[in-house]
Amino acid sequence: MSAERIEGFGIYCDGCETEHDEGQPVWDTPGEGIDSAVCSGWFYSREKYFDRILCPRCQTCEVCKAPGHEVDGHLVCEEHEDHGFTLPAAVAPWDGPRG
Ligand SMILES: [Zn+2]
Ligand SMILES: [Zn+2]
Repeated sequence: MSAERIEGFGIYCDGCETEHDEGQPVWDTPGEGIDSAVCSGWFYSREKYFDRILCPRCQTCEVCKAPGHEVDGHLVCEEHEDHGFTLPAAVAPWDGPRG
């Protein structure tokens, strides 16, 4: 027989709690899971006190709430890509998985 005990980290959207699943339910480290999710179009930001990760469906423009994507740490729609945010991004762009 073969049996395997699955241990690892799952990645869940902070908006709708959908699980990121690329045919692999868990990752050895949170960083690997986040990296995989980001490669699949998820938005990840490292904020001051917590991390935030959003599936593609939960990424909405910070200006008008239309479906958006990340530009310089802000989530914007195509119309608002050049929006002049008066405050710097509250988030740090993804710069690779962490330990
Ligand atoms: Zn979501
Ligand atoms: Zn917009």
